[in-house]
Formats: sequence, structure tokens, C-alpha cells
Amino acid sequence: MPARPTRASQPKTSSRRAAPRRPAPAPSRGSRAGLFLLKALLYPLALAGGVYLGLEAWSALRGSPPGAPAFIARALERFRGAAPPAQDPAAAPPQDLEAAPRPTRRPRRTPAPAAAVSRAAEDSPPPEPRPDPTVPAGPPQEPLPPLPDSSPAVSAAEPEILPLPPMQIDRGTSGRPEVALTFDAGSDPLPTARILEALASARARCTFFLTGEWVERSPALTRRIAAEGHELANHSWDHPPFTRLPDDEIREQLLRTEAIVRETTGRSSRPYFRPPLGDRDRRVLQAVGDAGFYTVYWSLDSRDSVDRGITPEQIRDRVLGAGPGAIVLMHCGSEASARALPAILAGLAARGLAPVTLSRLLRR
Ligand SMILES: [Zn+2]
Repeated sequence: MPARPTRASQPKTSSRRAAPRRPAPAPSRGSRAGLFLLKALLYPLALAGGVYLGLEAWSALRGSPPGAPAFIARALERFRGAAPPAQDPAAAPPQDLEAAPRPTRRPRRTPAPAAAVSRAAEDSPPPEPRPDPTVPAGPPQEPLPPLPDSSPAVSAAEPEILPLPPMQIDRGTSGRPEVALTFDAGSDPLPTARILEALASARARCTFFLTGEWVERSPALTRRIAAEGHELANHSWDHPPFTRLPDDEIREQLLRTEAIVRETTGRSSRPYFRPPLGDRDRRVLQAVGDAGFYTVYWSLDSRDSVDRGITPEQIRDRVLGAGPGAIVLMHCGSEASARALPAILAGLAARGLAPVTLSRLLRR
């Protein structure tokens, strides 16, 4: 009769059972606590890493994490550095995907062509005084130097000012079916939120010409304009007629506004400037160029700032007269324009015209 196996002859099971009795291999209370702590630290880290990698892969595949809370997207953007706060590609029309501002180098001064100026052909009677007797109606525009795609992000360091050729821009000449709706902001900020909502629901990005005073009064709105992917541009500090200012005051108006736009949004208002009241002449163009800006006029005036009683329907009809390359003048302070905007955007879409920023309109 075989002897019953003793504990000693059953190493497989017995050793396990016996182990706790032996003091040496048993993990001490201290080492068990250490192990627990290690796990408590490592598991959440691994989990977070997995989630992060998942989001990264997701965003690489899809442009951005669909359905991911906005704060995650923003945090990712911030983490990556240069990327703009709200260039949410998912919210942008597909053709705008490349419009995310890069850390841009502004165009170097080129052997300046004479100011390329053309008349504001589609304009009816001047809404505001625009004496420009010395700005000749020139040949169709010379090719522009390379331009950034959108408001460049800026570094904290005070930038070197690169003079630009004295040049007026009043339409795009690429022939692409694009229209730049531009909004001047110098007065009532109230209709702006409604304008931004209309633009967002049509996934349209536009260019906003801001006065420094407007930015000072409405910093949150200014940040929202930037955050929603629109282009920021310069409309002077307090809206004086520029032909009456000496060169140094012109420069001061532009640089002071540039400074507050940078301070408020971390973006630059360069390189576009729209003269208050459309008031400019060749000297103004030169002084503006010397301060590092192009002077932007328009090819179509919505007349939303001049005809007091203008209705949204009238504004819509005027703006829908725009053809490819048009630069359309509108105003942030116009309730009628804010109301007209959804119909304008729908009308442009129906005609195959894409609303774009100035930079986009003017790119080659
Ligand atoms: Zn204005």
C-alpha cells in the first residue's frame, strides 16, 4: 500500500500552502504596501497614456477628435504649442483646412511695384468721405507678395517692423469662386455675436477690421472672433480720417492697435489695414506700408453703415451682387447686416461662391 503522500512529497501544492508560514519569502506588510502604491500610480498613468494616444490617433485620422469635448481639443492644441485656439478643422469648410496660421514670416520688402489700385467699381455713392484724388485708378493689380493665410500667431517679443510696398487692395484677382466678406468694427459691438453665430453655422470665416478702441471695450468679443477662426485686421486706433494725420500719427494709430490686438488675442492684426471712412491717398498708402500694412479697400459696399433705414433684404440683394474676387464691406455694428447674413451666406453658397478670409482670397 503506497504511503500517503506527506506534505513534503507534494511540493507543488504544499509549497504554496506552506509559504506563508515561512517568514523569508512572504512579502512583508511594507513591501505589499509598496507594490500597491506602485500599481496605484502606474495604472492611472498607463490609462491616461492610452487615452491620450487614442485621441492623438483619432485626431490624426479625422482632423480632430469628433465628439471629444472642446476643452480636450483645446488642451491638445495648447499642448502642441503653436496651433491656434479655435481653428477647429471640423468646424471649417474643407477648403479652409490649410488656413491654420503658421508662425509666419511676413513678406519681405520687394522692389515695390507702384501701388496697384483700381476703382471700387461696384460702389455706388460714397458712404463716407473717401477723398482719394491722388490715388490713381491703376492697372489691374500687380501680383501681391506672398501673404499669410490668416492672422499670424505672435510671440511675446516686440517684432521688427517690416515695411511693405505702398499698396491698396480692393479685390482678389485669382478668378476662384471666392468672396471676402469683411466686417469693420468701430462702433456698437452688440450685433457682433449674432454675426458670429451666422458665420459659425455656415462654417464661414471672414476678416474683421478692428479699431483699438473697440478691442479695448470688447476684449471678450475680440477673443471670440479670433477663437472662432476669423482673421483679425487693423482699422486704426480711434477711427480718424487718415489724410488729415501726419505720418507719425498714422504709424502710431496702426501700432497702438496692433499692440492691443496682440495683448488681447495673441494674434497679429497684420498685414491688412482698412482706412477709417475709406479716407486715403498716396501718402497714406506709403505711411501705412512703412508701418508694415497693406491698405485694404473694397469692391462692394453693403451700405449697412450709411443708409440708416436699410433693410436686411436690401443688404442681402446688394451683397449677392458680388462676383468672384469681391471684397465686401460690412459692419459689426449693423443689426440689419447681422439679420441679413444667413440669407447672404445661403445665397453665396447657392451661387457656388465661398466666403473666405482676405488672406485666403488673395493667396496665389
Ligand atoms: Zn470704420
